Amino acid sequence: MSIKRIAIFGSTGSIGTQALEVIQANPQLFSAEILTAQNNADLLIKQALQFNPNMVIIGDEKKYLTVKDALSKTGVKVFAGEAALSEAASVDCYDMMLAGIVGYAGLRPTLNAIELGKPIALANKETLVVAGDIVMKTAAANKVPILPVDSEHSAIFQCLVGETKNKIDQIILTASGGPFLGKKPNFLVNVKREHALQHPNWSMGAKISVDSATLMNKGLEMIEAKWLFNLSPKQISVVIHPQSIIHSMVQFEDGSLKAQMGLPDMKLPIQYALAFPKRIPNDFPRYNFKKPNVLNFEEPDLKTFRNLQLSIDALYKGGNMPCILNAANEIAVFAFLRNRIGFLDITELVERTMNSVKFIEKPTLQEYFDTDANAREYAASLIQM
Ligand code: NAD
Ligand code: MG
Repeated sequence: MSIKRIAIFGSTGSIGTQALEVIQANPQLFSAEILTAQNNADLLIKQALQFNPNMVIIGDEKKYLTVKDALSKTGVKVFAGEAALSEAASVDCYDMMLAGIVGYAGLRPTLNAIELGKPIALANKETLVVAGDIVMKTAAANKVPILPVDSEHSAIFQCLVGETKNKIDQIILTASGGPFLGKKPNFLVNVKREHALQHPNWSMGAKISVDSATLMNKGLEMIEAKWLFNLSPKQISVVIHPQSIIHSMVQFEDGSLKAQMGLPDMKLPIQYALAFPKRIPNDFPRYNFKKPNVLNFEEPDLKTFRNLQLSIDALYKGGNMPCILNAANEIAVFAFLRNRIGFLDITELVERTMNSVKFIEKPTLQEYFDTDANAREYAASLIQM
């Protein structure tokens, strides 16, 4: 079998570094062909020296010379800047893209890879939240599979193997509930950055950690699921499951439920997407049924965690509303991480932006770009930045 050459977009992040661990553990199956980072030049250099990719791209142009000098004795090509980052996705030197950039910034490179006909292992859920219809249509036109890396969507994808002829009644996304499960607004009003970053079950990048604390992450995942599995909004529900052992479930027309389970470890969905349709062995810790175990389930508190309700509203509304929701949320989370706004202000900012930016029922790609820019500008204007 030939080695699958992986382009890791966002190689210095939580997903990117774990993908490199999977590649390192399976050198007979995978190589790293493209590595990209926004700011972390030191880690990008270290990764390039270790994995010897075809090229690396550093988003921040000020870091170009640092990376270039450090790799001058290697054959690794070095590029810098936002344009180079998406152009790299159009270079036909790899077999699969791992889309591990965080946020809207991942959309353009991912679309370029799809247009080049490359399968996508998709971690970057915002790509589907922003322009899911266009991304999925372009993927279908180019016969490109979009393989989910997000653990819930990987779970659903795994439950659907062998079920192509069977209708889905509903999918049930599990949510840990994040670090503030059971808390009420009088507690949340005082929550700070360092509290929000302490996720009970997963260690992740800062943005998705805050999204998990506000439950926005689950809302983004509902929208992501709609596009990945071609579902109507009412087929998508969420249940809180604090232990994160069941990663999600599918219920079929006969009422039968299939669940995918395991210890929470992102390397599992990453390696499943990279190696699909094969499963590859590993030595990750296993779930132990011999220990006393309790699995709990409860309804999400939509009145306290209003970001989830706003996402459901955007999911049902469709058009550019999820794009507006996402852009406002990116600005709000950025501001929260810099202690510029409080935890509950995130929701207010998102809601006000959703009520203000022009709604478009069937946006073109350019209209999605414009919506993103307008929503960011509006959300930023609400903060004294
Ligand atoms: P992270 O912040 O740890 O890493 C983000 C990566 O993207 C870094 O390599 C960074 O250099 C790059 N990046 C950031 N801003 C960029 C920009 N403007 N342009 C180009 N590159 C940029 O994030 P993460 O936790 O690895 O998450 C990545 C994506 O995967 C997100 O969309 C997230 O929702 C999704 N995801 C993550 C996890 C997880 O466990 N971390 C789980 C499921 C889904
Ligand atoms: Mg997830």
